[in-house]
Amino acid sequence: MARHFGAIVVGTGQAGPSLAARLAGAGTTVAIIERGKFGGTCVNTGCIPTKTLVASAYAAHVARRGAEYGFAIPGGVQIDMKRVKARKDEIVARSTKGVEGWLRGLQNCTVIQGQARFESPRSVTVNGEVLEADKIFINVGGRASIPPMDGLNEVPFWTNSSIMNVDFVPEHLVIVGGSYIGLEFAQMYRRFGSEVTIVEMGPRLIGREDEEISDAIREIVEAEGIHVRLNAKCISMFKRGEKIGIGLDCKEESKEALGSHLLLAVGRVPNTEDLGLDKAGVTMNQRGDIDVDDELRTSVPGIWALGDCNGHGGFTHTSYNDYEIVADNLLTDNRRRLSDRIPTYALFIDPPLGRCGMTETEVRKSRIPALVAQYPMSRVSRAVEKGETQGLIKILVHAETKQFLGAAILGTSGDEVIHVLLDVMYAKAPYTVIQRAMHIHPTVSEFLPTVLSKLQPMKIEN
Ligand SMILES: Cc1cc2nc3c(=O)[nH]c(=O)nc-3n(C[C@H](O)[C@H](O)[C@H](O)COP(=O)(O)OP(=O)(O)OC[C@H]3O[C@@H](n4cnc5c(N)ncnc54)[C@H](O)[C@@H]3O)c2cc1C
Repeated sequence: MARHFGAIVVGTGQAGPSLAARLAGAGTTVAIIERGKFGGTCVNTGCIPTKTLVASAYAAHVARRGAEYGFAIPGGVQIDMKRVKARKDEIVARSTKGVEGWLRGLQNCTVIQGQARFESPRSVTVNGEVLEADKIFINVGGRASIPPMDGLNEVPFWTNSSIMNVDFVPEHLVIVGGSYIGLEFAQMYRRFGSEVTIVEMGPRLIGREDEEISDAIREIVEAEGIHVRLNAKCISMFKRGEKIGIGLDCKEESKEALGSHLLLAVGRVPNTEDLGLDKAGVTMNQRGDIDVDDELRTSVPGIWALGDCNGHGGFTHTSYNDYEIVADNLLTDNRRRLSDRIPTYALFIDPPLGRCGMTETEVRKSRIPALVAQYPMSRVSRAVEKGETQGLIKILVHAETKQFLGAAILGTSGDEVIHVLLDVMYAKAPYTVIQRAMHIHPTVSEFLPTVLSKLQPMKIEN
């Protein structure tokens, strides 16, 4: 006999729990199923632990610069990685327990621990039991990609998940992957005291960004002594005594990098291969991302896919926004769509990069008439006062409507200041609104009108 619910939610990532709570609150009987730790990637192996570790690394970095600020630490800065890890574990445990306790305390909500697998378009099995529902929501997230690489099975390596158990400072951490996850770990471990080498297949770090942003990020990490090896077209791994070697086949001087430990940070794959989607008839693309429409409905009526498993996000805020879209469309008259949202994200190195909208490369491709302005953080007085002058601000606006097209703020508080521009983008207001507003002194945001005063026509190449 199958147990029947109004709705089944598979996964407790960044969309599932809020959706379960909202549906249960509206009177639907909900079963929410989790096979691992409550809260998913962000809480256990993603945003929360990494930003907690980034905070420890930042504190150590500022302490090492004590002389610049007028203080000294006798004996220098000593990293206690066991304590660093314990702080991270405490914060993660609080969050994961918080999610679990919240779900278990909800009326109309049954929490089930186990692996869910579709049996049909209206049913899943978990722990040998069949559960049925008229509506099924998939929020199974993703995990670190481990692509086939020569020699990888002969060397030990970490992913973003297994590195969470590390409670010592590796002598030399080699990180394969020079994008968001790799860069955050690179700077953090360098600040903990490791030698760090980043190996990147592409011609520059964080290749999705405009070239000057990639270059500025490279300058920032290299200034801290991180080795950057680009154009590693053909990566292979090997053991050399106690060390792990990475064959690079780069255009640069030496063809290999040696380290004591290896972290793979080469992208994410969705957790969709063991979900029995074929039994439900739910279609996926070649990457394994579940196909969804603008309202996150899958190819099967009554089944939705939210978060990283639909390939339209990759961030906690995109997964949470998926929940808002689905819940509002089901429970209110407020129609919401995926295509309403403006891409935005941050890279949490120090200083951070806040991003919204299009890059200059994307604007050029779209041939939109645009104005562009750039401004170095070294001329922002708040950055000077804080002694954090690395980076730049770059803003693109539509030449005719004067609306923002996109921006990158690489600099102190860039992850916060970007929201000034993002909210004006949502309001579809012209940039002149920001120019006429009075801002607080001394802040980074008060310089946005100054940056906007530098707007110049962007030349379109033929
Ligand atoms: C190192 C790192 C740092 C990051 N930092 C940031 C950041 O700073 N900001 C940001 O916005 N994003 C960040 N992200 C991305 C962010 O963590 C994810 O985008 C976010 O967690 C969204 O996930 P989700 O809701 O799709 O599902 P997830 O959080 O991945 O959760 C899915 C859940 O489903 C469960 N599950 C899977 N399959 C089944 C099944 N068959 N049955 C039952 N349960 C199942 C899993 O156990 C998991 O708990 C980071 C990611 C990483 C790896």
